[in-house]
Amino acid sequence: MNYRKFGNTGEQISALGFGCMRFPEYEQDGKHFVDQDKVDEMIRTAYEKGVNYYDTAPYYCNKNSEAALGRAVKGFRDKILISTKLPLEVCRKEGDLRRQLETSLANLDTDHVDFYHFWGINKGAFEDVIMAQDLLLQAQKCKEEGLIRHISFSFHDAPLSIKHIIDRSIERGIPMESILCQYNLLDRSNEEMLAYAAGKGLGTVAMGPVGGGRLAAPTELGEKLTGKANLPTYALAFKFCLGNPDLCCALSGMQNLDMVEKNTDLASDSTGFSEEEWKQLGESLEQLKKFNELYCTGCKYCQPCPANIQIPHIFNMYTHHNVYGLSGHAKWMYGEYVKKDGKLIKDCLDCGKCEKACPQHLKIREELRRVEDILSKL
Ligand code: SF4
Ligand code: SF4
Repeated sequence: MNYRKFGNTGEQISALGFGCMRFPEYEQDGKHFVDQDKVDEMIRTAYEKGVNYYDTAPYYCNKNSEAALGRAVKGFRDKILISTKLPLEVCRKEGDLRRQLETSLANLDTDHVDFYHFWGINKGAFEDVIMAQDLLLQAQKCKEEGLIRHISFSFHDAPLSIKHIIDRSIERGIPMESILCQYNLLDRSNEEMLAYAAGKGLGTVAMGPVGGGRLAAPTELGEKLTGKANLPTYALAFKFCLGNPDLCCALSGMQNLDMVEKNTDLASDSTGFSEEEWKQLGESLEQLKKFNELYCTGCKYCQPCPANIQIPHIFNMYTHHNVYGLSGHAKWMYGEYVKKDGKLIKDCLDCGKCEKACPQHLKIREELRRVEDILSKL
């Protein structure tokens, strides 16, 4: 495993982080459970292969992720870094941050969180909630008590807001210590700001290094972009992220043991791209832009939809057609979905909830109409 200096936090972080939002789950009597045996095996394998950064959040996996992670790391908790998150909507009065943190600590069955993130913030939330309630100070107090080791934020907004948040936290005298944001081959919009964050001493972590799974599917894209035969697209996607010196760690939401094995191998390989290969990749990426007209990361923040429209699944089918050129497969997926009475835009109740929740600011209803039309005609 390759390790990197994690900004000025004093930590060394593994180049691969374990995103705990896609643990295997099952449903019983209408309730959702995490398959703990599988999770234990995946986490132990990742740990043994050197992964030391594990990122969870209170709402992941039907609110079961924190507890499942806590159980899985028993025996080596002190050898790893745990990150979890604060949903800002719970912060209404003094003490709410502390109460939420205590819930996470109890779920994780630990006495401290290594990286506590203000979750999915934008500039507005930073000013209206964090600064207005002086949550940085509340977090600092928890840090002084040893409940938090580092104060961090995860981010969904226009890139320049990253600079605003970092600068304002420095002005407040309680600087953010690490950032988690989108960055991958298909979305390089935060690249400049990652460099800014690294320059200010923050540790930097990328979420979605394989583009919400799109770059994980087997395609010819890797070969097309680099001219290298036998380079799977997901390997290219990881190499791309980890080739950025301003990035400390690429977080992957691993779903099974196979992914853990593959990703840990990639993050342990120190062969990057040569200068010539970077050049070719840069040129090819320009071509890739045309693939990028629809950008759904599969984060599922738009779910559940009251009309039960499986929005990320529908966008994913479209991506198979549009990005990977796997039109036959997309047609089959769409046929299966319709056959099983999957809900479509015609069932939409126009509540608008999905669009408010979408961190990519997609015009979801408009996109569904367009995408379903294309899929139905394949
Ligand atoms: S606007 Fe339509 S698609 Fe979006 S959440 Fe509401 S019912 Fe679902
Ligand atoms: S439509 Fe938006 S909220 Fe829904 S999964 Fe895609 S990116 Fe996430």
